[in-house]
Amino acid sequence: MEQFDFEEERIKQEIKKLKVKRVLIQLPEGLKPHGPRLARVVEKAGALPIISADPCYGACDLATAEAESLDVDLIIHYGHARLQKYERVPTIYVEARATIRVDHIAEKALPLLDKWRRIGLATTVQHVQTLDNVKEILLHAGKTVVIGDAGHMNYQGQVIGCDYSNAKSIASDVEAFLFIGGGRFHALGVALSTQKPTIIADPYEKKVFSIDEEARKILKQRWANIDEAKRAKNFAVLVGLKPGQKRLEEALNIKERLKKNGKKPYLFAIRNVTPEVLMNFPSVDAYVNTACPRLSLDDASEFQKPLLTINETLVVVGKLSWEKLCRKGLFESWT
Ligand code: SF4
Repeated sequence: MEQFDFEEERIKQEIKKLKVKRVLIQLPEGLKPHGPRLARVVEKAGALPIISADPCYGACDLATAEAESLDVDLIIHYGHARLQKYERVPTIYVEARATIRVDHIAEKALPLLDKWRRIGLATTVQHVQTLDNVKEILLHAGKTVVIGDAGHMNYQGQVIGCDYSNAKSIASDVEAFLFIGGGRFHALGVALSTQKPTIIADPYEKKVFSIDEEARKILKQRWANIDEAKRAKNFAVLVGLKPGQKRLEEALNIKERLKKNGKKPYLFAIRNVTPEVLMNFPSVDAYVNTACPRLSLDDASEFQKPLLTINETLVVVGKLSWEKLCRKGLFESWT
């Protein structure tokens, strides 16, 4: 059985209903191996499939420009929930909900939650349908369970790499979070954004563990990066060119603040923020990343110079204290 629901029947029906002739298939890295099979589904429904081979890490990176240049009349974007308010090219989102069961792993997490009574739940779109079930298991174990629904996301309890508004909205009501899902990336975001102990229940690896030590290590690294940037002179403010990462106003604003603080800032337009691309500018001492904020946190050691988020830069220019930054979050929800 497939680990994810690719909604093939819905896709066939939509292609026929919309009478589209050319379809761009966009998949995140982990789902790319399914591309050729999904292309055959599109072809059988009567349209020409084109698979986007470029990297894709979020719905912020909808392949609009690529679709326009290829004269495509429908994008099928897999693996993420809708993020943008409107699309220039008609787009169908297939969230690729996971079919794996999570009840065993939620039960396995109970001993790690022993110390706390009030538990917040968080997950990615792949597992949002499991939260009611997990809630029942925790209630049965005598916990009080809270699921955030006051954020910007499409579903209760849902988080994405740069938006933890659902978790943040309940942080003061809970003592700890239980994150359901694979990998450390999103759970780390929950811990950093809420400052609460966070336990991961990973149904793929069948493991339960705390992410708190890793979150503490990242906080230390961030402080060191901010400190280094305080001594820097030449700054490059990166303006992301991916449709959901462009924050030109914020970039102009932070550039002005840096200038007032005696720094020399330049604006750089950039599509993919990588260490190799930034190495071409040896005279730049520090970067402000207004595109995907997670690069500053998760890949920091790969960059030779400090790569700060907007909030971190506010500490550099003296507009925010470190304590307030930790409370506010190293990066803000901005979707
Ligand atoms: S900006 Fe970064 S973290 Fe946010 S959705 Fe895009 S890739 Fe994910």
